[in-house]
Amino acid sequence: MKIPPLDLQAQYAEISVDVMRRVQEVFTTQRFILGPIVEELEAKIASLCRVKHGIGVASGSDALLLSLMALDLKPGDIVVTTPLSFFSTVSAITRLGARPHFVDVDPVTCNLDPDLLAQAPVAGVKAVLPVHLFGQLVCAEEIISWADSVGAAVVEDACQAIGATRQNRPAGNWGKLTGFSFYPTKNLGGAGDGGMIVTDDDELNAHLRSLRDHGAKKRYFHDEVGVNSRLGALQAAVLLAKLPHLEAWNLKRREIADRYRNRLAGLPITLPVELPGNYHIYHQFVLRSNRRDELKAYLTQEGIFTEIYYPVPLHLQDCFAFLGYQTGDFPQAERAAKEVLALPIFPELGEERFEYVCEKVRGFFG
Ligand SMILES: *Cc1c(COP(=O)(O)O)cnc(C)c1O
Repeated sequence: MKIPPLDLQAQYAEISVDVMRRVQEVFTTQRFILGPIVEELEAKIASLCRVKHGIGVASGSDALLLSLMALDLKPGDIVVTTPLSFFSTVSAITRLGARPHFVDVDPVTCNLDPDLLAQAPVAGVKAVLPVHLFGQLVCAEEIISWADSVGAAVVEDACQAIGATRQNRPAGNWGKLTGFSFYPTKNLGGAGDGGMIVTDDDELNAHLRSLRDHGAKKRYFHDEVGVNSRLGALQAAVLLAKLPHLEAWNLKRREIADRYRNRLAGLPITLPVELPGNYHIYHQFVLRSNRRDELKAYLTQEGIFTEIYYPVPLHLQDCFAFLGYQTGDFPQAERAAKEVLALPIFPELGEERFEYVCEKVRGFFG
């Protein structure tokens, strides 16, 4: 048996008629960049987050970059963030000449540990950029209260958390700005790159609409230097066809996660924990083992695809050496990087493949 990380062909087989109907609409109108179909998606994602505005952009990475640009980040400004995330959480900061200040993660969730914020600097902090890693929200109320106390804005990296909630408030409803990704492997994925920023703030909304389109509020009249980061209508069409399924797909992932927890109980591994009040959407189901590399090699040999999110914490990436961080600076993130392993989790996994994964993981430990 071969078990992929994700089975997008199975997903497409179920929705192809709807997808193609929406795609056809784009070809009929020949309106490929922004326009009414993108606006429809913007309104629906904003409503999912229960905020006023959605701004479609070219990727999740750009959603974070543009969010920080809209906050008018200047060289030397500090952005507090996590060392355990996808690369672009931090490249969004350094690209603007700002400086990431890392705060270690909580070993239970692998999310930024709010208890450690008390040790972070206060002067020069312009923003806090927490990541809802693997599909579970950070302790947002604590992070926001610290950010408020130092006068910083919170930008959520919700690229892995579309549809997740905490205290019944969705990802995207907490920060001043939030970035989402529609990369094909995300819980809501397009047919290529795509992203969205959401905000309740009218001024930031207007600013971002200009920033994503070369800084021109009126075409060919540029009041600042923006970028080309517009969402294409074909992406919006595919995403609109998929969006009605998101809730059921997330629910299915949660069911699979529960069943993994039951079937893998009692093994010498740490299983993912959903904090009280959180609605985790299991973008990834990440276990921890001190024999991670052996386990991964064994599962690969048995045809099971697993992945490591992330093998190198961001403070130890070569390209960020100039920041001066060293091994040992963030022990929890560094330990997680050695122990985490993501098992296949996707709505179409099915009984047989699920059982096979459980059998093989159990088999490894004898
Ligand atoms: C996917 C992802 C991004 C980047 O999104 P892209 O659309 O690939 O640019 C940023 N942060 C996190 C946590 C992600 O998972």
